[in-house]
Amino acid sequence: MDISEDELITAIGRVLSGTGPDVLVPVGDDAAVVRRGAGDLVLTTDALVEGTHFDRAMSRPRDIGYKAIAASISDIAAMAASPRYALCALTLSDDVDAGWAMELFGGMREASDEFACTLVGGNLARGPEVTVAITLTGEVARGAAVRRSGAEPGDAVVVTGTLGGAAAGRRLARRGAPWTEAELDAIHRHERPAPRVGEAPVLARNGATAMIDVSDGLTRDLVRICEASSVGVRLDPATVPAHPAAAEGEALGGGEDYELLATMPSVAAVADAAGELAEVFATPLTTIGTITTEGLQTIDDTGNTHPLEPSGWEHFT
Ligand SMILES: [Mg+2]
Repeated sequence: MDISEDELITAIGRVLSGTGPDVLVPVGDDAAVVRRGAGDLVLTTDALVEGTHFDRAMSRPRDIGYKAIAASISDIAAMAASPRYALCALTLSDDVDAGWAMELFGGMREASDEFACTLVGGNLARGPEVTVAITLTGEVARGAAVRRSGAEPGDAVVVTGTLGGAAAGRRLARRGAPWTEAELDAIHRHERPAPRVGEAPVLARNGATAMIDVSDGLTRDLVRICEASSVGVRLDPATVPAHPAAAEGEALGGGEDYELLATMPSVAAVADAAGELAEVFATPLTTIGTITTEGLQTIDDTGNTHPLEPSGWEHFT
């Protein structure tokens, strides 16, 4: 490390120094103090481990920091909540310089600012490998959080945006240039995912019965909704909106797209939500299947059903 630990902590404090009307004690004391809101408090935590979730040789620290915060914000959004406060516990190995750590926090600050979240604290520790642990809070109106467990037979299964872009981006970044425009967009989605913070409340307001963010792959996350809701599903893979750069399998099994997968009670509810999402966010909403009483199935273009084989993203090493 090229500067002392205290100097680095002071420097990081300046990057974090998120203040706001409800932040009573920001970074710099033993703990942060914020004024709690009137709604339900939503909490999530996640850890990124070097070698498992990111590779320092492949990713810029600014992107790793951005993505760490964006991924946690996506979990808050998937409850139809708004992000509020973030904390980061960072473990650094001896071969990491201060500039890398500063860039990492810079990326966290960027994502926090973009999605109206405040970084109120951080901790620095030494360890054998780099880990980035994020804790994030959010807020939702009382009783209004959308869970995974509310899907009912007959509900439409919908997904925002396109899928497979992040998986394609990871593959294409490793392959190297040249890239087409669609490929560059995929790489951007891999490096800087956009959690659907604004879109989630629109789905909730239009009656979403269950919701999850697509972090581990569409089929895997869809099965999670079915298991939590004790229902089945008939997925129509031909209707899944694939990112233009996605290869076969990446739309159904690629992870880290952070789109929203939800179940809606009626065709009219889907149409209303889709209209609002298109108008306000230019985000498409696509119906990709139907909730059934039991069984995990896909349907092909001749109308025959097949067992749904969940394919999920394996954390790369
Ligand atoms: Mg999630």
